[in-house]
Amino acid sequence: EFHKASRIDAIGVSQILQIGAKAARLKQQGRPVIILGAGEPDFDTPDNIKDAAITAMRAGDTKYTALDGTPVLTQAIQAKFSRDNDLHFELNEITVACGAKQILFNAFMASLEADDEVIIPTPYWTSYSDIVAIAGGVPVLLPCSDKNGFRLTADALRAAITDKTRWVLFNSPSNPSGAAYRREDYQPLCDVLLDHPNVWIMADDMYEHIVYDSFDFVTPAQVEPRLKDRTLTINGVSKAYAMTGWRIGYAGGPTDLIKAMAVIQSQSTSCPSSVSQAAAIEALTGPQEVLQDRACNFQDRRDLVVDALNAINGITCPTPEGAFYTFANCAGVLNKVTPSGRRLETDTDFCDFLLEEHDVAVVPGAAFGLSPFFRISYATSKQELETALARISKAVGSLG
Ligand code: PLP
Repeated sequence: EFHKASRIDAIGVSQILQIGAKAARLKQQGRPVIILGAGEPDFDTPDNIKDAAITAMRAGDTKYTALDGTPVLTQAIQAKFSRDNDLHFELNEITVACGAKQILFNAFMASLEADDEVIIPTPYWTSYSDIVAIAGGVPVLLPCSDKNGFRLTADALRAAITDKTRWVLFNSPSNPSGAAYRREDYQPLCDVLLDHPNVWIMADDMYEHIVYDSFDFVTPAQVEPRLKDRTLTINGVSKAYAMTGWRIGYAGGPTDLIKAMAVIQSQSTSCPSSVSQAAAIEALTGPQEVLQDRACNFQDRRDLVVDALNAINGITCPTPEGAFYTFANCAGVLNKVTPSGRRLETDTDFCDFLLEEHDVAVVPGAAFGLSPFFRISYATSKQELETALARISKAVGSLG
């Protein structure tokens, strides 16, 4: 009989995957389900990036590489941090892994002792708490109200720090809320952290380039240089260049941490794919206009979704600064009754109702640790978005 290791006891089956599976099942039965759950851009990887991979392959760039990034890619990342974030890293302060997800995994595995705490502002990307749990740590979830734009406040942070706090994790722009931290949002949080020299900072900047209305993106190590020697700044090519399948993420941080992360990586994946690293070099050093073009395109769709949601009685949707998600409040539809006589008690009930009776798959806030909300990913065509929003509107209108 299979014995399951206790280290995965704390990890439940992802609600996002469950909804995806159910939506796929309904679709198979012939239902016209629209799935607004994608965690990846609907664009293709740009051709110059694909060409760089093909050239690399043909040139025989098909072997194991340096453990945590080829020298050329590491230099490209060094230049990227300097160009975009005003952060200056030595080459041995940079690491490359199979996605930002592996960066997070390496960092927590390399740093957490049993019961060490990691502060995670909520709503949060579910993988954070699961990776912390696998590494033996304890996720400390801090709810961040939509009234404060889903951003953590200095008071809440101060109150949450204990002797066991090892990390605070920021994710701006955020999956799932799309909320981003301005300089003036980060500064008071950095001030709190200056008083706690044992607490390290992780900044997941995955959605840096998907920001709207000329939002001025900043990251904690840039806002407060005195925190740089205990900050890991994480980024990747997945979302910015539509390269989710290439599996390349990277980070800059203090050498000792970077070295310890390499130890974990050396016994899991050995190195990221050689071909993908060649592609990532082109992504970071080639033409960058694609970033702006795609952000503009996403902004159109954000506006469409936010306007349509706010036009529905009972739903309020703050305007996200970035990423490709909206996180709308559905308190106004709770405790209402569906035409088939079901009372909607939670955001999960509401999302079930939308999927089962109106063929739209969205993810409840509960899956991200904050209710009553639901997340829409608008990385899908405008036409599908319009149809889906009309269905949601009709669904809410049918409640009594
Ligand atoms: N960080 C956030 C906030 C994400 O939403 C995702 C993907 O959904 C990742 C990191 C993972 O990115 P990667 O493809 O580089 O592993």
